[in-house]
Amino acid sequence: MYKTLVLALFMFPFSLFSQDDISKLTSALLAETPIEEDLQELCDEIGGRVTGSKANEKSVEWAYNKFKNANIESYKDAFEMPSLWLAKSTSLSIEGSDFTPLVVSKYHSPKGTHSGQLINVGMGSKSELEAIGNAKLRGNFLLVEMDICFDIDGLFAEYAHAASVEFEAIERGAKGIVFMSSRPQKLLYRFITAKAADNSMPQLVMAREDAQRCMRILDSGQTMNISIKIDAETGDAFESNNVIGEIIGSEKPDEIIVIGAHLDSWAMGTGANDNGANVCMMIDIARQMKKMNIRPKRTIRFALWNGEEQGYYGSWDYTKDNIESLKNHKMALSVDIGSGAIIGFFTNGRSELLPILDKVLKPVSGLGNYAHIDAPVVGTDNFDFMLQGVPNLVAVHKPQFYGPNYHASSDTYDKVDLKQIKMNSAIVGALTLGFANLSDKESSTLEQQSRENIQAVFDKNNLEFTMRMFNVWEPWINKERGRK
Ligand SMILES: [Zn+2]
Repeated sequence: MYKTLVLALFMFPFSLFSQDDISKLTSALLAETPIEEDLQELCDEIGGRVTGSKANEKSVEWAYNKFKNANIESYKDAFEMPSLWLAKSTSLSIEGSDFTPLVVSKYHSPKGTHSGQLINVGMGSKSELEAIGNAKLRGNFLLVEMDICFDIDGLFAEYAHAASVEFEAIERGAKGIVFMSSRPQKLLYRFITAKAADNSMPQLVMAREDAQRCMRILDSGQTMNISIKIDAETGDAFESNNVIGEIIGSEKPDEIIVIGAHLDSWAMGTGANDNGANVCMMIDIARQMKKMNIRPKRTIRFALWNGEEQGYYGSWDYTKDNIESLKNHKMALSVDIGSGAIIGFFTNGRSELLPILDKVLKPVSGLGNYAHIDAPVVGTDNFDFMLQGVPNLVAVHKPQFYGPNYHASSDTYDKVDLKQIKMNSAIVGALTLGFANLSDKESSTLEQQSRENIQAVFDKNNLEFTMRMFNVWEPWINKERGRK
């Protein structure tokens, strides 16, 4: 009994102290904060902010000042983008017709005028393309039907479908690809291609209703000669910036927890669900933590990444700059799936994170019924941390608003669930502080993996095709990217 009492005396103040900080932080985040005003400024006043654009530079200054005004140590972290490509306009005309379908070009489509025949290839599967024959496809444009996209699974299916068609089109000598929009009501959106910044093929998204009309005309036996005009501002490598805020750890300042969201967006909408909502969440968590005078045991970095949409260049650069200290990075979290309720986290293949997640989310168990996904996800800023073997997480959200407005002209402030982003902030705040305050024993599994162990995660989850569809498999294999 004596022993129990001594233990209780020693343990109680500490656990009370950290619990108290977590409830202080979550209460502050759930109460009134400037998160909505911040989001309105970022979306409505700055607007869409493609890396390399004036609006993007404005957003960097804006974010830096947000941290500064909250008395948070912050800095701009410069890195190089490989090339500039800013869309200006894209149009498509059909010879001998007044019908001008609505189109938009995918990232890095070459500017200029591109002409040829439009060929209806159905879904563009290998067998469909084979049946048409390469003689007819060579030098022409493939018109590809796409399934309607509702949610995150639909999005990944769309990326996979588009990448398969792109690989086939290149192999068969096609001149370009016109993808039917996966969203009805003439909604358009911008995607990267599987070749990303290496893309040299004109690839468009056409309004769903217009693409269906083209398919019906083609199916009636008519020929369509099209002319595509793409205008873009292009240029060589240029400098961009992440913005990083930091709260230094009180006991283990060299051990680091990174939580991040990307500041850049495509510019058809105003980057509200992707990813302004979560940028503002990061700023709000840092601000409330500082305001409540909360000192985490470990250092917390709040990273607002840049160059994400083109291939996670900002977070990739961070892992290169911090290569020596990555072994001390205990966790890297990316929040990038909109403003729907957080319903769990991707472990990115690190099952040992599951019991820790259960522990750190206990204080916010009332805000969600969390079901984690013990699998890796490719497509956002956790990627290079995963490639370096740093324990990493991605928040899983309910898909409302995210899928239908993904990268589209409709991704605007009015689509953000303003109530839910406050609850999400409390969830992410509790998780972050929970990781930052873990005991040494609890954090002992948070180690940097070897290249072999990272590869084993990829093999187990058949990640090669997914990595190929984002142009990141080769850089991993040739050790240009990730742990050597
Ligand atoms: Zn995003």
